[in-house]
Amino acid sequence: MTRKRTIREVSWEGKRALVRVDFNVPIDDSGCVGDDTRIRATLPTIELLRTHGASLVLMSHLGRPNGEPDPRYSLRPVAQRLSQLLDAEVRFSGAVTGPNVEAAAAGLNPGNLLLLENTRFDSGETRNDHALSAALARLGDIFVNDAFGSAHRAHASTTGVAAHLPSVAGLLMEKELNYLGEALEDPKRPFIAILGGAKVSDKIAVIEQLLQKVDAILIGGGMANTFLAAAGCQMEASLVESGALDTARSLQGSGDELIQLPVDLTVADGFSATANARTVSVTEIPAGWMALDIGEATVAHFANRLAGARTVLWNGPMGVFEFLPFARGTVAIAEMLAGLTQATTIVGGGDSAAAVQQAGLAAKISHVSTGGGASLEFLEGKLLPGVAALDDAEV
Ligand code: AMP
Repeated sequence: MTRKRTIREVSWEGKRALVRVDFNVPIDDSGCVGDDTRIRATLPTIELLRTHGASLVLMSHLGRPNGEPDPRYSLRPVAQRLSQLLDAEVRFSGAVTGPNVEAAAAGLNPGNLLLLENTRFDSGETRNDHALSAALARLGDIFVNDAFGSAHRAHASTTGVAAHLPSVAGLLMEKELNYLGEALEDPKRPFIAILGGAKVSDKIAVIEQLLQKVDAILIGGGMANTFLAAAGCQMEASLVESGALDTARSLQGSGDELIQLPVDLTVADGFSATANARTVSVTEIPAGWMALDIGEATVAHFANRLAGARTVLWNGPMGVFEFLPFARGTVAIAEMLAGLTQATTIVGGGDSAAAVQQAGLAAKISHVSTGGGASLEFLEGKLLPGVAALDDAEV
C-alpha cells in the first residue's frame, strides 16, 4: 500500500486542524465516560498538533443515533474527560455545523481545542452527504484522520471531508497502518495467525487472504466447530454453521496443513456460565453437549506452534469468554502472546482486544488495534475508504 502523508509531514504553525477521532466510548448510567482507552489512544496526535502551534477542531461519532440529536449519545461527557486528560480547556459545540460552530472554530488560538457534537446527529454523516462534508471542511485548514476504527466506513467526517482539504493521517492511524500493513506485506517469520469468534462466514475472506501469507493459522472458538464438523467430527449441540461446511472443507483442503484445529474442547450441557462442563477430545463430545472453549491439550498444541514465532496476529476469542468458566482458552492465548517477547504481536480489535485489556496484558502486546471491523476489512486486503481518501506521502 502507498504510504500516506502524516501529521509529522505538515507545518502546523497557525493552522487549524480538523481532526476525525474515534471517541465512540461507553457512557455509563451517570452520564460519564466509562472506558476511556479510545480517548487516550488519540492523545499523542492531539499533543503533537498543539505543541506545533495548531488549533484543533475535533469530531467523532458516538453510538448509533438516528441521524438526529439524541442526548443519550452526546459527546459532552467526552469533552470533560478529554479536558481532564490534557489538563486543558476543551470547548464544546452543541451543534455539528452552522454559523455558531464556524465562529467558534474561527476564534481558536494555537493550542485551543473545540469538540463538535456527535457527527451522527446529522443524517448526512452516514450518507456521506456532500453539503455536510463541505460544511465540516469550512472548520479547518487541514483534515487529520486518526479514527482507524471508522476508516472502513465512507462517511462525511471520514471520507467526504477529505475531498475539500489537504488530508493526512494522525499518529494512531499511522501506527495501525504500519503494524497491520507490515504483517500483510513483510512479516517477520514464522508468521502465525490465530482466529476465533463465532462464525466462519464472517471471516472467510480473512482466512483466504491470510492463507497466502502465514506459516500457520490456529483456529479456535465457534469457528473451529464448523471446521471440525466439516472434517467429520460429531459436534452435537455445538454452534455449527451448516451453510459454511463446504467452504470450511475447501479452505482446509487449500490450506495444505496450514490450518490447525483444536484437539480437545471444553464442553457443557447448556449455554450458561453454570452449566456442567468437562474437557473431552474433539471426537468424544457427549450426546447433546456443546463446545464452549478450547481444551488444555489444544492450548498446549497452540503454544507449541507459537514458540519461536516472530509475528503473531490474533482476532477472535477461543470460546464463550463472557462466561468465566469458558474464558480459559482465550486468557491462555492472551498470556501466550504477552510472553512472546521476541515477536511482533498484534491483537485485532473487538472481543480479543477486550480480553487482553481485561487480563491486564495490553502493555505486553506490541499493538492492540482500536478497530475491530476496520482491522478485519484491512486483513481481507480491502482498501479502507477513510485511508484511501488521505493524501499519499511524497516520495
Ligand atoms: P466474533 O464477533 O465473530 O469475533 O465472535 C465473538 C463471539 O463468539 C463471542 O461473543 C463469543 O461468545 C462467541 N463464541 C466463541 N466461541 C464460541 C463457541 N464455541 N460457541 C458459541 N459462541 C462462541
